[in-house]
Amino acid sequence: MKIYKFGGASVKDAESVRNIVNIINNIDDNLVIVVSAMGKTTNALENILSLYLNENNFILELENLKKYHNKISKELFPENHEIFSIINDIFNNLQLKLSQNKESNYDKLYDSVVSFGEILSTKIVSFYLTLSQTKNSWIDIRNIFKTNNCFREGIIDFNLTQKNILKQLKFNNCRTYVTQGFIASTINNETTTLGREGSDYSASLLGYFLNAESVTIWKDVAGVLNADPRMTENTIKIDEMSYKEAIELAYFGAQVIHPKTIKPLENKQIPLYVKSFIEYKKAGTTIKKIEKNLDLTPIYIIKKNQVLISISPRDFSFIVEENLSTIFGVLAEFNIKVNLFQHSAISISFSIDNNIIKTKKLINKLQQNYIVKYNNNLELLSIRHFSEKIIKEMISNKKIYIEQKSRNTARFVLG
Ligand code: ASP
Repeated sequence: MKIYKFGGASVKDAESVRNIVNIINNIDDNLVIVVSAMGKTTNALENILSLYLNENNFILELENLKKYHNKISKELFPENHEIFSIINDIFNNLQLKLSQNKESNYDKLYDSVVSFGEILSTKIVSFYLTLSQTKNSWIDIRNIFKTNNCFREGIIDFNLTQKNILKQLKFNNCRTYVTQGFIASTINNETTTLGREGSDYSASLLGYFLNAESVTIWKDVAGVLNADPRMTENTIKIDEMSYKEAIELAYFGAQVIHPKTIKPLENKQIPLYVKSFIEYKKAGTTIKKIEKNLDLTPIYIIKKNQVLISISPRDFSFIVEENLSTIFGVLAEFNIKVNLFQHSAISISFSIDNNIIKTKKLINKLQQNYIVKYNNNLELLSIRHFSEKIIKEMISNKKIYIEQKSRNTARFVLG
């Protein structure tokens, strides 16, 4: 059995949906297709929710999103196809949900709203496959993937989910399922999500639970590249890398794979292929168990919009374990991830993604006990497999706030 994951870009228009049929055409195996919301639908739904919460008119944006899904469907289906009434119903439900909303927990409301994107995309893909003679079953993954109550960052209950999978997914010869990435539900069937861009993780979990032969993530790039092609020309595709390398890259901020994707696959030694949905016959990148150190080309990862926060005790005393534990406690309380950390005798500094609301709360709280200084608008550059020559090229003309080097990785917070 294979798991194929199609992200937003690979289902962003009618042509891309047609392309899925070409990609799965030659498979004579059981297949689970995991689909994200189409194009930028999740962002659009976030926007609709924020308009609604700020008591602005969200109907226009909702109509635009509906038009977008209808336009794609008009290019794919005959005029009287049932998909049109399904899309209509989904949008009516969404509008009704918002107009009758009594939910005050923002994260819970968020999950129940953004999940509509994946329901829409999977309905369209599933019906289109049927229309193209590919028999398939549409599955609402929320009946299978069970998480705790941590809305927007649901933690999977592995035991329950495994049981659900065994009960609900039956495979024989060449069965195809179409299901959603990113979404799940609590034991009380309240919708949760696994974190933004979480569909890769959904695919990896399905691979894990189903003991799949492989998981493939279909992307708009040729595979894992040594730099972000939106920022750098002349990127190089990496043919093979170990799980360890991949997890490091994802952690440093390489956007090609969601950081949580690798662990379930590594645990069961399931290979992950990252391939281009445009040049789908070409080999992409294979991520698997590799013992020897590969001679990898330098890989650059840039995380923008960083805030560097420096904290020191008010009385010039040393930073000791106790302070560290309080400071990390505050970070955990606000669910803030530290991207880079450094300490000296009387201060610690760390770089985090700038989320205006969270950062402000964090600074206010820390200022109660410490002197807090911060710099905005920085970038965090990580270079795996660096050389001094490369570092020089990358950081010349930039102000260095922090510099860290280990055997394989050089990292810089830059102005
Ligand atoms: N649609 C979700 C998002 O945009 C999940 C995903 O695409 O992986 O974050």
